[in-house]
Amino acid sequence: KRNIAVMTSGGDAPGMNANVRAIVRSAIFRGCKPFAVYEGYSGLVKGGDYIKEMHWEDVRGWLVEGGTLIGTARCKEFTQRPGRLSACKNLIDAGIDALIVCGGDGSLTGADVFRSEWPSLIKELLDNGQITREKYEKHQHLNICGTVGSIDNDMCSTNATIGAYSSLDRICRAIDYIDATANSHSRAFVVEVMGRHCGWLALMSGLATSADYILIPEKPSSSKEWQDQMCEIVSKHRSRGRRKTIVVVAEGAIANDLTPITSKDVKDVLVNRLGLDTRITTLGHVQRGGTAVAYDRMLATLQGVEAVQAVLECTPDTPSPMIGIKENKIVRRPLAEAVKLTKSVAAAIDSRNFKKAMELRDSAFSE
Ligand code: ATP
Repeated sequence: KRNIAVMTSGGDAPGMNANVRAIVRSAIFRGCKPFAVYEGYSGLVKGGDYIKEMHWEDVRGWLVEGGTLIGTARCKEFTQRPGRLSACKNLIDAGIDALIVCGGDGSLTGADVFRSEWPSLIKELLDNGQITREKYEKHQHLNICGTVGSIDNDMCSTNATIGAYSSLDRICRAIDYIDATANSHSRAFVVEVMGRHCGWLALMSGLATSADYILIPEKPSSSKEWQDQMCEIVSKHRSRGRRKTIVVVAEGAIANDLTPITSKDVKDVLVNRLGLDTRITTLGHVQRGGTAVAYDRMLATLQGVEAVQAVLECTPDTPSPMIGIKENKIVRRPLAEAVKLTKSVAAAIDSRNFKKAMELRDSAFSE
């Protein structure tokens, strides 16, 4: 019988509540005691009322709720050892021996750091007289498991992250609304969507709404190339009678010379070179809002069940798992590897080494 805590961390994503619900109920179903850590790592560092036992009915109705009902935060203290030392003490005080973190690559990096440091943290607590030898012996290992909650779909080793399809749906609906007014006034709209190192949201929403042009961080081009190509395509569409123009820009779009491509840059080109009446719509936090779509509810639920199973099966020698989905099957991947790969992909994109970035992304699924 284990005491399993769950927390949500980093940016909120639709489906996080469904994940927490599945973890709580699955833990109870398997005879374990579930706990929720409120406010992400910040709650872990503060302890006390931030760590609460959860019951079956506590998560009733959570499957459909957007955001995260147990809160999330960015926590500077947890990035430093003293913060992690308090987190360790708080978990031991609450009797918790396994932690499931639902968050993006930053949160999962934190989880991995925490687990690798755990032996030295408990030793320090013992040496300082903050925990008894009995507790020290009992809490030799902390099982950590990650589920990926992130609207950007930017994590390696999984085809989809919890929240990405809900966000995609929100963006498509927003562009559908924009379409009507763009058509009416024969206007151009530059729609800025989230995605710093990953253009998945921009690319998929552009495809799903028949955008004229899409700018993503992963597309290699010089400033002249994208400007010429966009103008040529938009002009062609206009000459064939299309009254609206939609250009989707990922917030991390960047040219080969490392100049960011902003919505304003795109607008200026459409206005100055094509004379189009152009507006910018930055979707912002609307992309995170609302209930989770069916896919995210399903993904979050299946991954929650798998996370509890993984925690129960992990031995001290098993690398911490991250729960992903590959070709419609829920899979376990080594968390540390997935995090490392994701960071390497981001670094390769930043240095405009696209071949390497794509090879790294593919390597996550090579075996
Ligand atoms: P999103 O993809 O939405 O940005 P994220 O999980 O990547 O989500 P971050 O802000 O990067 O969000 O990380 C969330 C929290 O995880 C941080 O505020 C910090 O507390 C913890 N964290 C991140 N990186 C580390 C690290 N290297 N060591 C310890 N803790 C970390």
